[in-house]
Amino acid sequence: MQYFSTRNKNYKVSAAEAIAKGLAPDGGLFVPETVPAISAAEIKALCDMDYCGRAVNVMSRYLEDFSREELEGYVNAAYGDNFDDAAIAPVHFIDDTTGVLELWHGPTCAFKDMALQMLPHLLTASLKKCGEERKVCILVATSGDTGKAALEGFADVEDTKILVFYPHNGVSDVQKLQMITQSGKNVGVSAVYGNFDDAQTGVKMIFSDKKFAEEISGSGWFLSSANSINWGRLLPQIAYYFSAYCDYVNSGKINMGDTVDFAVPTGNFGNILACWYAKKMGLPVGKLICASNANNVLTDFFESGVYNKNRPFCCTISPSMDILVSSNLERLLYCISEDDELVASYMKALGTEGSYAVSEEIKTVISANFKGGFCSDDDTKALISDMYGKYGYLIDTHTAVACKVVEDYRRNNAVVPTIVVSTASPFKFCDSVLSALGDECNAAGTELIDKLSKSTGLDVPAPLAGLDKREQRFSGVCEREDMIEVVKGFLN
Ligand SMILES: *Cc1c(COP(=O)(O)O)cnc(C)c1O
Repeated sequence: MQYFSTRNKNYKVSAAEAIAKGLAPDGGLFVPETVPAISAAEIKALCDMDYCGRAVNVMSRYLEDFSREELEGYVNAAYGDNFDDAAIAPVHFIDDTTGVLELWHGPTCAFKDMALQMLPHLLTASLKKCGEERKVCILVATSGDTGKAALEGFADVEDTKILVFYPHNGVSDVQKLQMITQSGKNVGVSAVYGNFDDAQTGVKMIFSDKKFAEEISGSGWFLSSANSINWGRLLPQIAYYFSAYCDYVNSGKINMGDTVDFAVPTGNFGNILACWYAKKMGLPVGKLICASNANNVLTDFFESGVYNKNRPFCCTISPSMDILVSSNLERLLYCISEDDELVASYMKALGTEGSYAVSEEIKTVISANFKGGFCSDDDTKALISDMYGKYGYLIDTHTAVACKVVEDYRRNNAVVPTIVVSTASPFKFCDSVLSALGDECNAAGTELIDKLSKSTGLDVPAPLAGLDKREQRFSGVCEREDMIEVVKGFLN
């Protein structure tokens, strides 16, 4: 199976090349030329497998240039005792029609682990298959969560190094401690004076510095990113939708073939797009419920067919969804229209006007499959408190946004089996969760973790326990202009 750019069907590459390159040269995203089908009998067979078996089976359909043995090796390395639940991505049922797919049992307690534990294996193998002999240095600018998940994914992976830059006073105490205590021989972390944009601009400048690229190429290195638009990050996410469906069937609450709605807390549109691919392959998915916070560009888009990012940016208590341009939406537009020129024209309009309106054809398919909804910070907190009060089940702010949108949706629609995708452990967002529960939260981040544990009786997840006692390895801070010197020092 080949892949091509959403903006140019004639630009075809193999799966390994798509993963090695990340982005197509025309700025488009790589998409598979066809979506592989899976039969009901094959889904039934998945029900008897464990998470790794399901993941190998689903991913192999997209990766013809990888052998089954190779894939099994990567999957077993990615999803093992680094997760604190043997099921890897368990479904917690609140009642017969509502399950919560917990994607936060990995090493950083957030769903990014599902992709970033797998990507390093896919990326290093893809580079080898493409004849790349140099070693790769991953550069990341982070506003918090992605940096840590990428560090955990790439730590001690052969022939790679990873260097993460974070804004000096722009991440939480817990996020900072998570990063500066990272173990591994090939990792580096540096603070940058300024905000996230400064860090991001600095990294972009390094990527576009041709002279620097030549310099490090001479000593056997090249730079790459662990960006969320890489196909190697999207693909591992398709697997957990199949896994969740199988768990629902195995629970006896639905029959094989019954449809299930999925509700996904959405930012860059990666997670929910993986659900769309699962549905296209043949998984019995009903509606895809796209949940947003006050940054409700997508809710408006699903309602009107107009994507308009010209609006104020809101900082919310579900910060990983504070996004105005959802990059992966481009893949959906292509997948529906199969018209590369049309998609290129939308993306051009987004760049120049900040908005575009999709065709009637796309609008029709979207309204048959998607439902958007959003919720305020106050409603998010109220839901956390309600859910905990009624069911004794504690969820984080991002998951709560999705639960609230489902609650609203069910007010006007029949209640059908639904799985809410849970993207972070509540311990990752202690201050908001504590305040939702009515507790005071004027303490340092690490104390809040213990406080939440005391007031709920839940154990602190191992990756967050005793953070303040771990060795702090990376204390450096630099000016934005000096980031390139930090990279040089790191590669020497
Ligand atoms: C990244 C993230 C999201 C958004 O996921 P997308 O794939 O970007 O839509 C939601 N919740 C949490 C906790 C995240 O870290």
